[in-house]
Formats: sequence, structure tokens, C-alpha cells
Amino acid sequence: MSTAIATTTVPTPHTAVLLSARGLRVTFGHTEALRGVDLDINTGEVIAVMGPSGSGKSTLLHALAGVIVPDAGTVSYGSTPAETVEICALDETARARLRLTDFGFVFQFGQLLPDLSAIDNVSIPLLLGGMRRKDALRQARTWLGRLGLAEQANQRPTELSGGQAQRVAIARALVTGPRVLFADEPTGSLDSLAAENVMVLLTDVARETGTTVLIITHDARTASYADREIIVRDGRVTAGFALSASVAGS
Ligand code: ADP
Ligand code: MG
Repeated sequence: MSTAIATTTVPTPHTAVLLSARGLRVTFGHTEALRGVDLDINTGEVIAVMGPSGSGKSTLLHALAGVIVPDAGTVSYGSTPAETVEICALDETARARLRLTDFGFVFQFGQLLPDLSAIDNVSIPLLLGGMRRKDALRQARTWLGRLGLAEQANQRPTELSGGQAQRVAIARALVTGPRVLFADEPTGSLDSLAAENVMVLLTDVARETGTTVLIITHDARTASYADREIIVRDGRVTAGFALSASVAGS
């Protein structure tokens, strides 16, 4: 048996880089959506991505999550060398599997299945993962409660307010315990009070569970809930601001 050697260079979970992009370039026809993006995202960090419409925010999110493969550059995912994968080097099937097991997604509109109740919507990813219905419903109910929706479990999306529907979508994205939550303007369709409510719950749950969050937003108030803000402009990350010294507690 080999002897394990403790070193002081092993990063603690909350400071380890989890997602790392280098030289990302994405072109759609003649449009250069990303023109060389370098970005490191730490485990447990909540990052707000801001920038004008058409600047490349959604494309960046898609490239980081392996939804699209960049024309150039790399995306590394993993907090230790042994578990790190180059997402861009994976084939379509492996990327789809990684998205299912490790990532959660929330979008601005139309994510809930309209014919299903809130609890059925939230249990979908668990059922797809092979969980028994009874267990899936129990877990879905827990997550709805966590997002303040215990009373709405049996309601359909049309019976929910916009803010409630977004919280159901967040519960569905988090129910599988993803390591990274990608949210593309999740509060974009909400009034400011509902948006704030959603951000409070989202960031509380993320910090409790140590989930890393990347959230695209146009709204400075929504961004103020993040640990760090980055600005995308003309396909480049032009700035990063630390908004708060407190990252998820250890
Ligand atoms: P943002 O999310 O910041 O509004 P996007 O990442 O969606 O910006 O888009 C960046 C640029 O790439 C825009 O000029 C957009 O029109 C273009 N683009 C994005 N997706 C596609 C696509 N699938 N096909 C063609 N052009 C696209
Ligand atoms: Mg977008």
C-alpha cells in the first residue's frame, strides 16, 4: 500500500476551480458570438453574467454547459485533476449524459409541461433517471417545500404566478442535485418583487447545497445576489467584479 502524503497545495472545495474556459470562440455563419473567452468559475460560486443583448451571454452559457461545441478553445470541468474532463472533447452522447447527471438548467419562459402539476413537473428528471415514482414524488415534494411551494404541489402551471412557475422550474433543475445550475434570464419575465423573491430562494438553496450557479440577467438587482459579476460585451468577457466577500460557508 502506498502512503498518502498530505500537502498544503490541495485546494479546499470552495476555492477549487470547477469550470474553466480558455480561448473560447463560437461563430454562427458570419457572426462571431464569442471571440476568445477565458473564465474560471469556482465551486460554490454564484456568478451573474451581464451585458447587452446579443453580446454572447447565452452562447457562453451553452458552450460552458456542453450544449454547443466551440469552434476553438476548451472547457474543463471538474475540481480535481483526476475527475476533470474536457467537455469539448466529449462526443454528443457523453455531453448529454454529463448535462443530465451534473447540470441543471432554468430559462426565462415555457419550461414547465402545461398538462402536469407542479410536483409532476419537478419529479420528471428523477423518473427519467429511473427513480421509483413514490420516491420521486417524495423528493419533488421536499424541493417544492424548500422553494416555498408546498401549497402549490398539485397546481398546474397556468394556475401559478410567474414567480411561482419559475420557482417550480428551479426546483426541477435542482431536484437531481446538480453541481452546476445554469440559468438564462430566469427572472426576465417577472416583476421586480417576484424576481427578488426568486433570487433569494435560488441563492439560499445554492449556498446551502454548495451548488455553483451561473445566472444571466439584465437586472442589476438580480445580479446583486451573486458573489461575482462578469460582463460580456461583443463576445468577450470584459470585466469581473466581486460583489460580496462571502462565498458559500464551509
Ligand atoms: P445574448 O444572450 O447576450 O443576447 P447570444 O449569445 O444569444 O447573445 O447571441 C450572440 C450572437 O450570436 C448574436 O449576434 C446572435 O444573433 C448570434 N446567435 C446566437 N445563436 C445563434 C444561432 N443559433 N444561429 C445564428 N446566430 C446566433
Ligand atoms: Mg441570451
